Amino acid sequence: MTQQCEICGADVQHTYLVEVGTSKLRVCKACAKYGVAVPERASSKAKPVVKKKIYKLMDEEFSIEIVPDFGMRVKDAREKLGLKQEELAKRINEKVSLLRKIERGEIVPDDRVRQKLERILNISLVERVQ
Ligand SMILES: [Zn+2]
Repeated sequence: MTQQCEICGADVQHTYLVEVGTSKLRVCKACAKYGVAVPERASSKAKPVVKKKIYKLMDEEFSIEIVPDFGMRVKDAREKLGLKQEELAKRINEKVSLLRKIERGEIVPDDRVRQKLERILNISLVERVQ
C-alpha cells in the first residue's frame, strides 16, 4: 500500500513526517527537505491536520489548488474502477448527492473529502501553484 505526499501528491512507499511552519505534513523524500523532521514517536497520537492551503517553504511560497477539471477526474477514475456513484459515496462515507455535485463540478470538495477521493480512486486532484 502506498502513501501520499501531502505536498506534491506523489504516491510513495514511505512518507516522512515533517513540520512546515505550524503544520505537520506527511511528505515524500523529495519534499522532506522543505520541513523540519518530526520524530515519529512524539507525533503518533496527534494526527497531522492540514488546514492552511498555503505553505511557506523556505523562501518559496506556493499554494496547493484543486485542479479545474476535478469533477471529470473523479468521474473517470470512478468509472474505470467500475464503481457506481452510490458505491463510491458509501466508500468515502459521504452522500451520493454530494458526490454527484462534485462530479458535475458544482461543488469543490473540501480537503477531507478530496483526500478520501484521491486515496480511493488513486488520483490527484490538486496542483501546485506558485
Ligand atoms: Zn512530495
